[in-house]
Amino acid sequence: QARPASAKFASAAEALHTVFGYDSFRGEQAAIIDQVSAGGDAVVLMPTGGGKSLCYQIPALLREGTGIVVSPLIALMQDQVDALNAVGVRAAYLNSTQDPGTRAAVERAYLGGDLDLLYIAPERLGTEQAKQFLARGHIALFAIDEAHCVSQWGHDFRPDYLALGELAERWPDVPRIALTATATEATHKEITSRLHLERAEHFVSSFDRPNIQYRIVEKNEVRKQLLDFIRTEHAGDAGIVYALSRATTEKTAAFLQANGLNALPYHAGLDAGVRARTQSRFLREDGVIVVATIAFGMGIDKPDVRFVAHIDLPKSVEGYYQETGRAGRDGEASTAWLAYGLQDVVQQRRMIDQSPGDIAHRRRMSAHLDAMLALCETVECRRVNLLSYFGQPSRPCGNCDTCLAPPASWDGTVPAQKLLSTVVRLRRERNQSFGAGQIIDILRGKQTPRTTQHQHETLATWGIGGDLGDQQWRGVVRQLLAQGLVASTGDYGTLAMTEAGGEVLSGARTVSLRHEPERTASRSTRSS
Ligand code: ADP
Ligand code: ZN
Repeated sequence: QARPASAKFASAAEALHTVFGYDSFRGEQAAIIDQVSAGGDAVVLMPTGGGKSLCYQIPALLREGTGIVVSPLIALMQDQVDALNAVGVRAAYLNSTQDPGTRAAVERAYLGGDLDLLYIAPERLGTEQAKQFLARGHIALFAIDEAHCVSQWGHDFRPDYLALGELAERWPDVPRIALTATATEATHKEITSRLHLERAEHFVSSFDRPNIQYRIVEKNEVRKQLLDFIRTEHAGDAGIVYALSRATTEKTAAFLQANGLNALPYHAGLDAGVRARTQSRFLREDGVIVVATIAFGMGIDKPDVRFVAHIDLPKSVEGYYQETGRAGRDGEASTAWLAYGLQDVVQQRRMIDQSPGDIAHRRRMSAHLDAMLALCETVECRRVNLLSYFGQPSRPCGNCDTCLAPPASWDGTVPAQKLLSTVVRLRRERNQSFGAGQIIDILRGKQTPRTTQHQHETLATWGIGGDLGDQQWRGVVRQLLAQGLVASTGDYGTLAMTEAGGEVLSGARTVSLRHEPERTASRSTRSS
């Protein structure tokens, strides 16, 4: 008893009740659905969990023909289609993982007018063959999900998305809706121009997630810090821990397991069966912690993730926001916890220096890292910093670490000058450059085989920094890096003075540093 694709629902509200079983629309859903159902274009910026899917699913049910959904998340298409089929929506997908027989059946269904929604990967839609095929059927609308992927300035650029701009020319009468959960003003503009959405109405929701508490701590013994954080604040809760490398996810998961937590690693190097089992345990069991690379979490709709922890510095604020956004979709109190240190900065600068791609690409990565560092080092409200990055002004939130315990700042001009002077002398007098470790040893006058070998004790700055400890100096270097007063270069992260650093050394500029809070976390773990 298939419904003909032409006779669908009388109203958006009816579709919402009868198909999805919800009482009312959320936020701007109703306005967006009206706009697209009436044939208009829309650009939708809405945070994760805001309810973007209904914004194109319901118009597809209201309009004649099939809604074409462009999504880069091939791995999730099956789940999305299954969920729609389960509530009686006629949905299917086309991607490269299908066998020819299945593909042919989906194509027949589309051409026969038997599909409400058809999901398709961007690389496929870019081909002339696919466009000719689609032209033989009846298209209700185009939905372009994860639309920030079209932006070259964004953090997640996918070249296949550029071809989607042609849809406007080819199907001028078909409404198009572009959706994303992360967009700065620059990315928003780029989505609009590259996808030719000049006539679209724009729907920009607040990006604030008030139930998420943002916290950023100085990294020292990160696994112990993490364990302590989970034990004291989130015992028995479901959470995601993000790390940059596969090896780190495995070691960290093993460490948490050894300490009695229900933790599993997840990364692209594990085989598909293991990954699927981990994902389904995370969704179905209580209190599972997944330690993952960024490969985990996209599109996973688990409402009660109570914490997201980052044990390595994310590469961009967009990525950080997207990943932390997976916490607390149910609106209950949740924590976004990040530990970062000097080594993160050095390592990421190195990755940028060594990355393939042109100078413009490296400059973009560098700008992304700088914004992330500014968030980490701010003495003001984290949320204000985060939201202003997305172009949304706000007031101090009272629910982030800097609001709850405002960090003191101190005048770091003298220590900065001592450090810069050491860097400059090494270069001028010895034609040498070193990483933070050696520079700190020199400042503290700490004799090591390496300082002896290079006769560093004869430098004029030998031992002039004995007033600060090793850990404090590392904090100073990290903040000078973040402020762009020193630069870290090459394979070994050797330090060099920047132009701005030169102004500090000459006394033309002062340096304000964040006071590092006491290291209580790791101590309490050792005794437990
Ligand atoms: P997004 O794609 O923006 O991250 P989803 O479309 O996946 O968000 O929706 C997030 C969750 O909210 C889903 O479980 C969805 O079913 C639910 N949801 C969406 N709209 C409504 C609504 N109007 N009423 C109740 N639940 C909704
Ligand atoms: Zn705050």
